[in-house]
Amino acid sequence: MGWVDTHCHLQLDSRPASALLERAAEVDWLVAPGVDADSSRAALALAAQHPERVLATAGLHPHEADSWERQRPLIEELAKDAAALGETGLDFYRDLSPRAAQEKAFRDQIAMALELSKPIIVHCRDAFADVHRIVAETGAGPQTVLHCWTGGTRWTRRFLDLGVMFSFAGPLAFETGETVRLGAALVPPERALVETDTPYLAPPPHRGEPNEPAWVALVGAALGRVWGMPAKEVAAVTSANSARVFCR
Ligand SMILES: [Zn+2]
Repeated sequence: MGWVDTHCHLQLDSRPASALLERAAEVDWLVAPGVDADSSRAALALAAQHPERVLATAGLHPHEADSWERQRPLIEELAKDAAALGETGLDFYRDLSPRAAQEKAFRDQIAMALELSKPIIVHCRDAFADVHRIVAETGAGPQTVLHCWTGGTRWTRRFLDLGVMFSFAGPLAFETGETVRLGAALVPPERALVETDTPYLAPPPHRGEPNEPAWVALVGAALGRVWGMPAKEVAAVTSANSARVFCR
């Protein structure tokens, strides 16, 4: 059994998707999240080309949240064919859209996910308290995937109580990733997923290079070191979790 890369923006990569998939022989399948209507449409097209290995999501990234009113009907339509909603969430680190707009787009996408009974992929940067409040208020926890989880012990515990899934990415393996590793140590294997966030955040020894799905194995190996579990078992449990979450 191989890996599942639960967050891989294949459609945003300038390299041909087929080449990246071919190089990722150990990756059984992956999830290509949309960040706006156009990229969600592109992800769905990729999924149609590679139905065995690519699932698409439809959503609006918090960076683009100020265009929500215009994109909303498009995302709503695309979401019907998508495996999940997102990526949505809150980014108070870069603050590229006003916070009120980010919260509105996030809440509306959660409502769509609840309506369609689909998972929702959540980006959370410097916004732990607000993401926690909104997920708790909406009751969306059991459908929530926290992508590129970087929380330490305190926030990991609080989010565990909401029933969410935690998806780990390159920062878990960074030299500076001690906080992330302490959080990951608290996550039971049945609540964990792995991802690359291609083309961003390449894990060591590839930092600074464009990331690719094949390197999800490096993230999984890092998680195995945190848990004291062989990489093969990490692959088996996170892949089974991925299949359950994305109904594959
Ligand atoms: Zn992303």
